[in-house]
Amino acid sequence: MTARKSSYRSIASLQRDLARCRACVEAGFPLSSLPVRAPYAAQRAYMYGQAPGIVEGEERLPWRGRAGQTLRRWLELDEETFYSTFFCASVTRCYPGRAPSGRGDRTPAPREQELCQFWRDWEFELVRPRLIVTVGGLALRSLLGLTDLTAAIGGQFDYGGVPVVPLPHPSGASSWPNVPANKQRLALALRLVHDELSR
Ligand code: SF4
Repeated sequence: MTARKSSYRSIASLQRDLARCRACVEAGFPLSSLPVRAPYAAQRAYMYGQAPGIVEGEERLPWRGRAGQTLRRWLELDEETFYSTFFCASVTRCYPGRAPSGRGDRTPAPREQELCQFWRDWEFELVRPRLIVTVGGLALRSLLGLTDLTAAIGGQFDYGGVPVVPLPHPSGASSWPNVPANKQRLALALRLVHDELSR
């Protein structure tokens, strides 16, 4: 049963409720996992992806599959440094299952995104990140309302006074990073991430 308090004073308390959230199921959406949540270790950067994949849903931990490996390779971070640097969250927190077409995973519906924003808003309040990195088009749209991923990569934005650096999605299903002009955009975005982390 979903429990949401009107106020949270600690990330531990928030994550206890997040771990058993079924708001989307109660609203009639099919989900294929329980919520994925990042172990909190006082990270000062917040990574905001789209939704867990099947591996993340099974392990209930973020970025455990191949996309996570690619993301760490892009960032030149080993696993330990990656997870101690970034508090990893996503637009929705449960594996949404396969798309009805059979190609890739289902994109969370707008209502699911709305329902899950509750957790993001409280995480921002409690974690107070100094940097936000969005990963993929849906996260970029959800956080900043920007719809042109290509134009955004290599740029730096602001969300309530916090710098935001967008990255493309590292999923093998995306051909975006293989386009030559996009490789330069990605390199610039990764440099921005490292510059902000080293501040
Ligand atoms: S996707 Fe988010 S709002 Fe929906 S059930 Fe999972 S944790 Fe709850």
